[in-house]
Amino acid sequence: PPALVTLGEAMAVVATVAPGPLATGAPLRLGWAGAEATVAIGVSRLGHAAAWTGRLGEDAAGAMVLAGLRAEGVDVSAARTDPAAPTGLMLRERRTADRLRVSYYRAGLAGSRLAPEDLDEAQLTGARVLHVTGITPALSATARAAVEHAVAVARAAGAVVSFDVNHRERLWGRAEAAEVLAGLLPYTDIVFAGPEEAALFVPEESPERMARALTRLGPAQAVLKLGARGALVATGDGGLHIRPAVPVTAVDPVGAGDAFVSGYLAAALDGSPVEERLHLAALCGAFAVSVPGDWEGLPRRTELGLLAAQDISR
Ligand code: ATP
Repeated sequence: PPALVTLGEAMAVVATVAPGPLATGAPLRLGWAGAEATVAIGVSRLGHAAAWTGRLGEDAAGAMVLAGLRAEGVDVSAARTDPAAPTGLMLRERRTADRLRVSYYRAGLAGSRLAPEDLDEAQLTGARVLHVTGITPALSATARAAVEHAVAVARAAGAVVSFDVNHRERLWGRAEAAEVLAGLLPYTDIVFAGPEEAALFVPEESPERMARALTRLGPAQAVLKLGARGALVATGDGGLHIRPAVPVTAVDPVGAGDAFVSGYLAAALDGSPVEERLHLAALCGAFAVSVPGDWEGLPRRTELGLLAAQDISR
């Protein structure tokens, strides 16, 4: 059975290949993306069986996502093809050399129609880790119910529940996100957040204090992602672990957070302690930012040495 199970939305990505406005016409490249699917691929590449569940349209974009996940060895046996709505789409425009602009076409589409009955209970109860994000509950009432059900079932079966806050301000406001997502924290074992996301739940200002405060809301491990500054973890027993980023040439920041989570969770599945989880997480984040695309650049075990050599913190 899959060691890690995750659920969420995945969509087609149409991206310009060179800087410039999309509106005047531009060469494009087709791909796909999804935060939870990125985590599943990262964990699979690092050698642990992973499953992804979600709804896709009965269309070429949905087929592309499923084929991509299958090619990465991710179990999609529980994913559903929804004949009533198309797969979502993201237009990604490099408006200038340094500025990305993204438009979503997702409201009411297949990914948002995820519902509790889509979940494979046997898969959930057999998993060692369930990973969810704050994106899914923002999509619709049924998607929110699916997340809450998955968390309840996996936790009752003794799985580790991992929750990446991933606040999406285009989907909902901070007050509503804070209220809904705070409800997941008591059932979460490992929470991942950036400082602005942590501020949804705790009033503290420094990342260390925020992480410590998060552990008092439920999670035994609170991981603060700090971009190029690295990351830190507070543990419920009072521990604090700090890890600088691996220095690389960043060409695409999107997906760093999901790559980081995949490394952290793969190391947790290895049975590694927090220090080693952070180390593998930082390596995966560095791989992701130094390659275009959200998941394409994620490392296999045998490739980790490529960047570990640059890891001055070792
Ligand atoms: P996103 O939402 O853009 O995917 P995030 O905000 O969730 O990302 P970040 O904190 O940006 O997550 O990045 C996660 C981790 O990836 C960092 O803790 C760090 O280890 C690594 N990382 C991010 N940016 C860089 C960078 N420029 N160079 C090296 N490592 C990076």
